[in-house]
Amino acid sequence: MKYILALIVFGSIVLFSCKEKKKITPKEIQENLVETNDVAKEQVESGVGQKDSPASLNVQLYSKEEIESFKDSTFVILKKLDTTFLYSMKYATKDNFLKEQVYDCDDCLVRYKTAKQLIKANNEFKKAGLRILFFDCYRPLYVQKKMWKIYPDKRYVADPSKGSNHNRGTAIDITLADLKNDTLAMGTPFDYFGKKAHHAYLNLPDSILNNRKKLKSTMEKHGFWSITSEWWHYNLSQSYKYPVSNFKTTCD
Ligand SMILES: [Zn+2]
Repeated sequence: MKYILALIVFGSIVLFSCKEKKKITPKEIQENLVETNDVAKEQVESGVGQKDSPASLNVQLYSKEEIESFKDSTFVILKKLDTTFLYSMKYATKDNFLKEQVYDCDDCLVRYKTAKQLIKANNEFKKAGLRILFFDCYRPLYVQKKMWKIYPDKRYVADPSKGSNHNRGTAIDITLADLKNDTLAMGTPFDYFGKKAHHAYLNLPDSILNNRKKLKSTMEKHGFWSITSEWWHYNLSQSYKYPVSNFKTTCD
């Protein structure tokens, strides 16, 4: 018995140290963030975002040189700029209205301009103990066509002949989560195609209306605009400046 116990203890130590070698420590991330950009500096100083999931601790952040080379139109992987966002990327799973996994990768990609504004909005949410959780970000045009085929209703799915701002890397589907990573009540699930998801639908408890209002007012303050039919969807202002894209996302 003693022998088995010793073996388990030894095994755990070996496993633990192997794991540790692969991971970047939160301290290293902090140091890296301080070096990489000013927005990240704010997070480190505020101390928010220290409850990162192990996955985000493995992220290879963009280098200072990479960040300096970005144009507003460059597509970036958001978690490589800022590790304090949360994700539940529905189209990288079968848990969506298509009932099909349409993304190979669950990274959230957006144009650099979108990312900068999202980081600003998230920094404000963090002051209130909240964070942005993403359901969807950049969406290739071929996925838009697939969605339109299944649900050709302009109130909920953009016509692929015109393209969606998701295809431009300037729209995101989001909600808010607290520091325990629990999402706030918003009245309906994501991709609920009905009146209850509309901003004008007020037959909801005050707490829910307040959550929607908090999300909307802060996003608007940082350069995003909402649409009438989906509480979760936000477009970057002047999205039209960016072309529709159709590249496939991979986690390579
Ligand atoms: Zn959307």
